[in-house]
Amino acid sequence: MKFATKVIHKGQEPDPSTGAVIPPIYMTSTFAQEAPGVNRGYEYTRAGNPNFTYLEQQVANLEGAQYATVFSSGMGALTALVSSLSQGDRVVAVDGVYGGTWRLFNQVFNRFGIQYDSFPVDQIEKALKGAKWLFFETPTNPLLEVFDIAALAKLAKREGLLTVVDNTFACPYNQNPLTLGVDVVLHSSTKYLGGHSDVVGGVVMTNNLDIQTAAHFGRKALGLNPSPFDCWLVSRGIKTLAVRMEKHNSNALAIAQFLDKHFCVKKVYYPGLETHPGYAVAKKQMCGFGGMVSAEFNLSLEKTKELISNFKLFTLAESLGGVESLVSHPATMTHASLSPEVRERMGITCGLVRFSVGIEDTQDLIDDLAASLDKCVT
Ligand SMILES: *Cc1c(COP(=O)(O)O)cnc(C)c1O
Repeated sequence: MKFATKVIHKGQEPDPSTGAVIPPIYMTSTFAQEAPGVNRGYEYTRAGNPNFTYLEQQVANLEGAQYATVFSSGMGALTALVSSLSQGDRVVAVDGVYGGTWRLFNQVFNRFGIQYDSFPVDQIEKALKGAKWLFFETPTNPLLEVFDIAALAKLAKREGLLTVVDNTFACPYNQNPLTLGVDVVLHSSTKYLGGHSDVVGGVVMTNNLDIQTAAHFGRKALGLNPSPFDCWLVSRGIKTLAVRMEKHNSNALAIAQFLDKHFCVKKVYYPGLETHPGYAVAKKQMCGFGGMVSAEFNLSLEKTKELISNFKLFTLAESLGGVESLVSHPATMTHASLSPEVRERMGITCGLVRFSVGIEDTQDLIDDLAASLDKCVT
């Protein structure tokens, strides 16, 4: 089965008891037992529910994973994974991870004796010794930096580390880290998997039974389970993942090309542009370049804010991966807590704008950008 077929059929069999083509939503906290300890695979929804299982079968398949565990959020998925580490363990990350990930390690798990160190990619090799995990994202947020997944996983394996990749930005349609030697993939299904900005969820995928067991245990022990209804929504969203991603990919490329030619734009960050420093690696490891585009405008902070407020179709909001186009301003939103010097050094300038390109008509989106820019510079 190819991807576009799997998203519709895997884990989504008609209900055997009624013939309902779409599996029903099991809004139940508990399950009747035939005798003490005798059940049909489910006991209590914190530990498991049929809607979790259906979604897990559906998503595992998309990443080439044997196992998947669904969670209340992307951060819930990561919390369960980190809870399998112990005091004194060290995690090495490549610079550019999601802010919430950084916060979880540096403001929560640091107090439990788990060490987290982040380095530029060219300094990773010598930082690995003695660590437990190598953690990274590619492409990164918001600068769309691309890292060679297979090369990093190989380095980590040589030093005996597990490689954990947050694949939320690319999504499984565009990139499958497990097939490139990575041990664990996690997703915020709030983004492309759900795809409609109407649900928060997370998932861990792996071919390693020990990790699967730990993820499952973490969900139950820490109370990180999603709601059955939320799983049903994500299952519903995933069915259109292939068609959505085709349009996200093509719209984002068109917008990156438009911005690249605009006199008001200093720099465009999109791995699908041949001028992007990660283009060759992206072409090797991705089937599409994704729906996220960032651009640095030749505008002051005030003018950049004005530009963002002018958009008619790009809604100013956090998050990404939904059918509707969103825009965000990293310097005053996701990266506001950093000092201006650190931000500038990272490339998060006042003129930097991040677009989550939706699946609207391509020309309508370009017209919206063009009209807002015209208004701003005249
Ligand atoms: C949103 C996001 C997360 C966190 O997921 P939640 O579902 O919001 O908890 C983690 N990683 C990346 C790359 C994200 O974009």
